[in-house]
Amino acid sequence: MPDQPILVVFPHPDDETFALGGLLARHAAEGTPLTYLCATRGEAGRNMGHPIVATRETLPEIREAELREACSILGIRDVRLLGFRDRMLEFEALEDLARPVAEALLELRPSRVYTYYPEHGYHPDHDAMSRAVVLAIGGLPADQRPLLLGTVFSEAALAALGEPDEVIPTAAYGETLRAALRAHRTQTAAMMAETERRMAEDEGFRAQVEEARSKMAAKLWVYPMDTNGVRRPPQESPVSA
Ligand SMILES: [Zn+2]
Repeated sequence: MPDQPILVVFPHPDDETFALGGLLARHAAEGTPLTYLCATRGEAGRNMGHPIVATRETLPEIREAELREACSILGIRDVRLLGFRDRMLEFEALEDLARPVAEALLELRPSRVYTYYPEHGYHPDHDAMSRAVVLAIGGLPADQRPLLLGTVFSEAALAALGEPDEVIPTAAYGETLRAALRAHRTQTAAMMAETERRMAEDEGFRAQVEEARSKMAAKLWVYPMDTNGVRRPPQESPVSA
């Protein structure tokens, strides 16, 4: 793993944990400096806690506090909220979304940038932010660009993108990941309580979850900047004519 900083860019508090929590914990444990640009405070989130602890007015403040706690658990020391409006990113001018990303690229000179894989983020905010990241990186001279690596939201994207370019084991960071998930309590408390209940009651389900946890790995796809995102077919071994 590189010692150069890694820049993480997502639109919502909790994207970092749900999408890449185990991997970010691993990088932090290995001493890689991480900076997270979180575009919004997640104020349009549908969940208000379980039991309900937030109102529409208090949700942004609560989610920001949850985000800072989760990032501190994962080991992300530099968290920057960009102040864009939740669920509205697709309506922002792309240059405005890209500007803070471009500034962070110049300031931090990261070796890698993580975000949702462009057009496979499943949510308009996710895709808008990925497009902004592509624009920001594209603004750098080709030989100064960090590697752009995308994670995908659903298994459906696998069919379009093929096998991931990197598969990084993260099972050793499962406890840290789950602690970070718990920190996003307005969004995760109901889901985590349900999982724990089923694990306690259903031996088969518990075995399934434990098996999945033991194989946990981050899957990343390299976004090819030089071909504007067109992925080359997998290299086949040369065949003599
Ligand atoms: Zn999100």
